[in-house]
Amino acid sequence: MSEEKRSAIPGLPDIDDAAREIGRKFFAGPCEFVAGAASEESLIPVSLPEIAIAGRSNVGKSSLVNALTGRKTLARTSSNPGHTQQLNFFALNERLMLVDMPGYGFAKAPKEKVETWTALIRTYLSGRPTLRRVFLLIDSRHGIKTPDREIMKMLDTTAVPYQVVLTKADKISIPALAAVRTKTESELSSHPAAFPIVLATSSEKGDGMAELRATIAALLRD
Ligand code: GDP
Repeated sequence: MSEEKRSAIPGLPDIDDAAREIGRKFFAGPCEFVAGAASEESLIPVSLPEIAIAGRSNVGKSSLVNALTGRKTLARTSSNPGHTQQLNFFALNERLMLVDMPGYGFAKAPKEKVETWTALIRTYLSGRPTLRRVFLLIDSRHGIKTPDREIMKMLDTTAVPYQVVLTKADKISIPALAAVRTKTESELSSHPAAFPIVLATSSEKGDGMAELRATIAALLRD
């Protein structure tokens, strides 16, 4: 789809054409894999402003990173057996670091793995003054679940601003999407670090991508 096309998802923030164009251009620029960090020691030093993308495994995080950047395999180019457990840093236009956080919420994950993940994420979130916003992905069919609440609590305590993005919006009806958005916004209202507006996307159809790109590009100006 054309980037300028208005999204088929109702209720998204009304972003003007100029801002959409800035977002489109920004994400059409060079995007390079910089590093992966599987441990606290291997976190790269802060440099550019950062945004991070978080969510449960299977929420559609790789698909979203690829759709945002218009590259089919970006999130997988760094793929290796440890991929799901590492933070991957991508530099966009040498101006913004996009950080793909390891998926969480494996039902049967060993305790030790969960502890390693938690320590890494906590260290990352508490030591990143350049981190402008975390985009927390939530499957629009399921809404916020217990593992999401744990990371929300961590974001609230570390005072890292975050915004929820509902994924796979093409998989549910428009009224069902509106209902999950209302419910999500209502739950977020009691979270101090949460941004009140919930976005929605479909990586499959491209809906909501222009709004998300514009939102991210605007963070660089603020
Ligand atoms: P990750 O584990 O969070 O990185 O999730 P993936 O990006 O690998 O997606 C998990 C599954 O959901 C895959 O089968 C994707 O094809 C599917 N998926 C992801 N995003 C969408 C979407 O927007 N719409 C639909 N219909 N399926 C999606």
